[in-house]
Amino acid sequence: MFPAAFEYQAPATLADALSLLKKHGDDAKVMAGGQSLIPLLKLRFARPELVVDIGRLPAMSSIKRDNGHVAIGALVRHVDVERSKDLEAWLPMMVEASHWIADPLVRNRGTVVGSICHADPSGDWGSVMLALGAELIAHSQSGERVIPIDGFFQGPFTTTLRADEVATGIRIPVSKGRSGGAYLKLERKVGDFASAAVAIHVEMDGNKIAKAGIGLTAVGPTNLKATAAEKALAGHEPTDQLIAEAARLAAQAAEPKGDIRGSAEYKKDVVRVFVQRGLHTALGRAKEGKA
Ligand SMILES: Cc1cc2nc3c(=O)[nH]c(=O)nc-3n(C[C@H](O)[C@H](O)[C@H](O)COP(=O)(O)OP(=O)(O)OC[C@H]3O[C@@H](n4cnc5c(N)ncnc54)[C@H](O)[C@@H]3O)c2cc1C
Repeated sequence: MFPAAFEYQAPATLADALSLLKKHGDDAKVMAGGQSLIPLLKLRFARPELVVDIGRLPAMSSIKRDNGHVAIGALVRHVDVERSKDLEAWLPMMVEASHWIADPLVRNRGTVVGSICHADPSGDWGSVMLALGAELIAHSQSGERVIPIDGFFQGPFTTTLRADEVATGIRIPVSKGRSGGAYLKLERKVGDFASAAVAIHVEMDGNKIAKAGIGLTAVGPTNLKATAAEKALAGHEPTDQLIAEAARLAAQAAEPKGDIRGSAEYKKDVVRVFVQRGLHTALGRAKEGKA
C-alpha cells in the first residue's frame, strides 16, 4: 500500500523545524529514522499533511557526559549505541539492549529518541530509560522542557510530548556509587519484538542497594516501571529471598495480554524469572565495578 499524499520538509535548523510544527500543529509529523513512521504512513494509520524530517538538523548525533548525566542526542541511532565505546564504559546495559533491537537494517537508521517518542509498549528503549531514571529534553518555540520518563508514556503510542515539540535528546543520570545493569529479552526469532523483556539497574551503597530501577517491556499498555519491586529492594542488602520477592512484585505489576507470543500467565512468569536473573546479573556487575 502507498501512503496518502503528504508534503515533505527537511529543515536545516531547529528553529525552522519548530516554526513548521507551530504552524501545522497536529497536521504535521516529525520524522527521525522513519523506521516506525514510514510503515505507519504506508499502512495509512498515520495521514499527516506534512512530514518534518529532522535528520539534517546539526548537533543532535552526539553521546556525551555532561554535569552528572549521559546525554544522547535525538539523532543517535541504535547502531551508534551498539558501537559506542563510551557507553560500554558508562552504561553497558544500553549497549546490551541495543543488540536486541530489530535487525541491522533497522538499527542503522532508527533512533533511540525516536523509539521513545513512538511509545510502542513493545519497544525496548522505554523500559531501559524507566530503569535508568532518564529525562527527555523537548524544545518548542516556547523554550525547553525537561520531561521525566516516569509519566511520559500515557498509553500505547501516546506520550505527553506536544505536537509543537521536538525531542532533542535524552539524558540519563550517572550513578554516584557502584552500579550494574542488565537487559533480558525473550523473542520468538532474531529481530522480533519482545514476547516480554526486562531492564534492571541497581546502584549500591556499600553492601546495600541504594536504588533499583526495573522497566518492563511488552507486558502492558506502555513500558512499565515496577515501582513496588524497586521500593522493596532499596535500602536492603540483597539476599536470594529479597530478590525472589522483588521478582514476584515485578510480575504482579505486569499486565500482559495473551497473544501469538504466549499466554498472559506465561508472560508474567517470564517477567518473574527474568527480573530474578537480571537482578543477580546486575548485582554481580555492580560488584565487579562494571557499571
Ligand atoms: C522490522 C522492524 C523491527 C523492529 N524491531 C524492534 C525491536 O525489536 N525493538 C524495538 O524497540 N524497536 C523495534 N523496531 C522499531 C525501531 O526501533 C524504530 O527505529 C523506532 O521505533 C523509531 O525510531 P525512528 O528514529 O525510526 O523514528 P520514526 O519512525 O522517525 O518516528 C517514530 C515516531 O516518533 C516520532 N518522533 C521521532 N523522533 C522524534 C523526535 N525527536 N521528536 C518528536 N517526535 C519524534 C515521530 O513523529 C513518529 O511518531 C522495529 C522496527 C521495524 C521496522
